[in-house]
Amino acid sequence: EKVEVRGEIYMSTKSFEQLNEQMKDDKLFANPRNAAAGSLRQKDARITATRHLDFFGYQIGYIQGMDFYLQSQALQLIRDWGFLVNPYIQLAKSLEEVMDYCQKWEKERFNLPYEIDGVVIKINDLAQQQELGTVARDPRWSIAFKYPPTQVATKLLDIRVNIGRTGSVNPWAALEPVNIRGVTVSRAALHNEGDVQRKDLRIGDWVLVQRAGEVIPQVVKPVEERRTGQEEVYHLPERCPLCDTPILRIPDQAMAYCPNEECPARNLESIIHFVSRGAMDIDTIGEKMCEQLVTTGYVKSVADFYTLTREQLLSLEGVKDRSADKMIAAIEASKHRNFWRLLIGLNIRYMGEKTAQIIASAFGNIDNLLVAGEAEIVGVPGIGPIIGQSVYNWLQAEKNRALIERLRQAGVNMQAEQQEETTGPLSGQSFLLTGRLNTMTRPAAEEAIVKLGGKIASGVSKSLNHLIVGEGAGSKLAKAQKAGVPIHDEQWLLDLLKEHESEV
Ligand SMILES: [Zn+2]
Repeated sequence: EKVEVRGEIYMSTKSFEQLNEQMKDDKLFANPRNAAAGSLRQKDARITATRHLDFFGYQIGYIQGMDFYLQSQALQLIRDWGFLVNPYIQLAKSLEEVMDYCQKWEKERFNLPYEIDGVVIKINDLAQQQELGTVARDPRWSIAFKYPPTQVATKLLDIRVNIGRTGSVNPWAALEPVNIRGVTVSRAALHNEGDVQRKDLRIGDWVLVQRAGEVIPQVVKPVEERRTGQEEVYHLPERCPLCDTPILRIPDQAMAYCPNEECPARNLESIIHFVSRGAMDIDTIGEKMCEQLVTTGYVKSVADFYTLTREQLLSLEGVKDRSADKMIAAIEASKHRNFWRLLIGLNIRYMGEKTAQIIASAFGNIDNLLVAGEAEIVGVPGIGPIIGQSVYNWLQAEKNRALIERLRQAGVNMQAEQQEETTGPLSGQSFLLTGRLNTMTRPAAEEAIVKLGGKIASGVSKSLNHLIVGEGAGSKLAKAQKAGVPIHDEQWLLDLLKEHESEV
């Protein structure tokens, strides 16, 4: 009479590609899984309905008035009721058959119309499932077998650099175009010169490239057997390719910088950064629009956003009445962002989200920060000398003080919100997140925990209540295991948040 069918909502590779074609450059989804999760999280269900999502049922969560004893029976019932069940599910009679199945799909998975990163192996007998039980929230009767990411060999044609918003010199690999699972890849990020040297990448090398869930592919390593001796060792250019200023290297640091504050790349990048989601979040203005605003001279500094006129916007390519109004409304709304977002938007070297939040709550407003001495900023817990000096030096520059005054005149918020201790269902519990989450960003997860009254710990200790482990977790995981801290996965956190959502 009553039944709950559980399953997985997914997006096919084709729908994913079509969706990304419609998205703005800075809103691209990294992979179909994120696209599916993002589509489901839309506040407006009508948007969700336009995304081409599919569903496979795989489990009966609850049932009334009917008995079954095997997972395979459950699947048959789900199928009989008219739900789609993955047609490749197979009942294996021995461990050998399980292993054959895993091996077979390692290659054949590429013929599927959707991406998979592994297969799930389940015990068929429900009584045995019961007996095996669960550890934390992970069932012992169900286990995922993961495949390694696909690597493809191609030629490294050249290594070039672009200049980031803080003047950082970022090398990237120009590759002979190669197809990795339906996506043509012709460039890959290289983090810095040290990264190139560590991997011993030489121009002209054959290299292995992989896309492991990210938009930007990675160069894994050179194929040394294919070297001919013609390959060239790479060195960073001595001068900035855009403004010819000598590149600055800081001893003991991996990064190199173009120190010219007026470097054209830097200016555009810093303007794009200001409007980005992580900073002031002016969501109707994307990269292309920033480029136009800079080339027309309407925006030379981020303060110029607040003096833009409707007429100026309408004179730009592709801007109609409605979009001009939307941009003006978004710029207006950005005046009321949290103070820490402005601190990020100001483009101070090393100023990340966490740093900005710490500084905003430590000083409370811009005036306290402007009069703070170097030692005072460096001394804030969680800041330290490198970030502290960078912030202090930035604030001392005449030009930057003038920028702050212009933003203040424009009415941009420079006051931190009152710190309030939130109480809620998670009060008294401490959490720490490590690694990358799939369904949300780490700051978003932390915010959700804090909203429910939980505390975010600064590190692993015996008193930590929960460690949430995402992909690629490192030393924190090992430490927590040693300290006997309860360890959970992302799904556990999602369930926990969902469970308490209605209580707030
Ligand atoms: Zn430059």
